[in-house]
Amino acid sequence: MKVVDTVVIGGGVLGCFVARNLMRWKISVVLLEEKNDVCMGVTKANTAIVYAGYDNQPGSLKAEMTVHGNEVFDTLCKDLEVPFLRRGSLMVGFGPQADKVMQKKFNHGIRNNVPGLRLISGKEACEMEPHLASGVTSALYAPTTGTVNPWQLGIAAYENAIQNGCDVWLKTKVIGIQKTEYGYAVETTKEFIECRAILNCAGLSADKIQELLFPPTVRLILDGSEFLVLDRHTATPEHIIFHESEEAGKGITAVPTVEGNLLLASSKRPMDGEYFSTSSKSMDRLRSIAADILPKVDLNQVIRSFGAVRPNPHWMVEKKGKLVPDGKSIGSFVIENPAPGFYSLIGIKTPGLTCADELGKYLADRTAEYLNALPNRGFNPKRQAIRAVRKMNFETRNSLVMRDPDYGDIVCQCEDISKAEILEAIRRGATSIAGVKYRVGVGMGQCQGSRCSQIISKLLEGARHELL
Ligand SMILES: Cc1cc2nc3c(=O)[nH]c(=O)nc-3n(C[C@H](O)[C@H](O)[C@H](O)COP(=O)(O)OP(=O)(O)OC[C@H]3O[C@@H](n4cnc5c(N)ncnc54)[C@H](O)[C@@H]3O)c2cc1C
Repeated sequence: MKVVDTVVIGGGVLGCFVARNLMRWKISVVLLEEKNDVCMGVTKANTAIVYAGYDNQPGSLKAEMTVHGNEVFDTLCKDLEVPFLRRGSLMVGFGPQADKVMQKKFNHGIRNNVPGLRLISGKEACEMEPHLASGVTSALYAPTTGTVNPWQLGIAAYENAIQNGCDVWLKTKVIGIQKTEYGYAVETTKEFIECRAILNCAGLSADKIQELLFPPTVRLILDGSEFLVLDRHTATPEHIIFHESEEAGKGITAVPTVEGNLLLASSKRPMDGEYFSTSSKSMDRLRSIAADILPKVDLNQVIRSFGAVRPNPHWMVEKKGKLVPDGKSIGSFVIENPAPGFYSLIGIKTPGLTCADELGKYLADRTAEYLNALPNRGFNPKRQAIRAVRKMNFETRNSLVMRDPDYGDIVCQCEDISKAEILEAIRRGATSIAGVKYRVGVGMGQCQGSRCSQIISKLLEGARHELL
């Protein structure tokens, strides 16, 4: 049986940041992930926004973490070499209901100390963002809102955690937890692990994981969202656009991503299909609202659609002698601490990506305190990204190709990605085409991988043979 100080359950963006922040302390850590790679759950499908912090209840932990998380995002992304763009956002309304919401959010933002927040007229909004339809009645401008690639961020934290000594077990599912004299015994599909602390970051299963040892307090009820991705050669808005509909919950969001694509996101819909699936009805609705709000965007340039799953946490209440979810989604972050050394992040929705490092620090610091751990003075916060030939000037690219011809062998023609980059992604842990895509961006262009997938499969297969 393996014995460690701490087990982190779940390798989504939160588990990866918890693991990375634990490495700031002299603590032995194993990260357990049931899939064959990290960031393949909720983290792989979201709106990619780094929020400014005006949406959150003043005085709440969520508000504090969002505003601070946003403020330090440049440094975080510089350390981890992850692209981050502060595009600024415009929340736009087309009527009196939306204007009221805008005013409320502005007031929250001021109380939350969101920098540079301005409530502006529809005319000014349309001047700032010529892609907007006329008829905007008011807008909330937040210059600090940004966008980041969610899986690149999570994978960067994961690589940095490993670099600093974190042990990772992929394809390892947690199936039981018992209390022991030492702390806890975690039963996995591979073997038992004995530990003093458990940090439960199991995303859609976080409630079930806690219930392996404790009575139910929170239950996750899922709903979905749907997305369209436009080709990056399409003209897009410069800002992130939040459309506040006159009908609550019917707005859409448009995000010009760090890759240059436009991401269109619907509000929530019932979880009626498979996880991450889409339906033609809601896709049509999304298209039709987008055409009204952003009439100059060419919606014929859609290259991909995908669905997302949102875990909504509900407190459990007793009704007729039975414990049942109370029917109202909890607005704050749910951080449960049912016993010493056991923490659960349950149903961390938006802005979980913005707050991933903040939440990671929060849990790591509490765990270190519980374990009486000393700071790890050797912690290195910096991680190097995979070198991308498409970002190089001609001279640098040429000299690299002279040294390693694999940099000149372009496998993904749409996104200009070389064989050398793909091999490096595999060396760093990609075991599937999706894993390679998440690390270097193959298959994200017009052909969506139809031309390069076969070659990537062969490279993955070759690497597998080398490992055998
Ligand atoms: C539609 C949508 C849009 C969003 N947009 C934004 C946004 O724009 N900005 C923002 O800040 N936030 C956003 N969020 C929130 C953000 O995406 C989430 O907070 C974050 O991705 C949650 O990450 P996670 O690590 O908790 O979950 P996950 O990524 O799901 O990771 C959990 C991991 O645990 C593993 N696991 C589960 N059970 C077990 C087990 N028994 N054993 C081992 N491993 C297990 C899973 O395989 C998974 O890999 C959005 C969320 C949604 C749903």
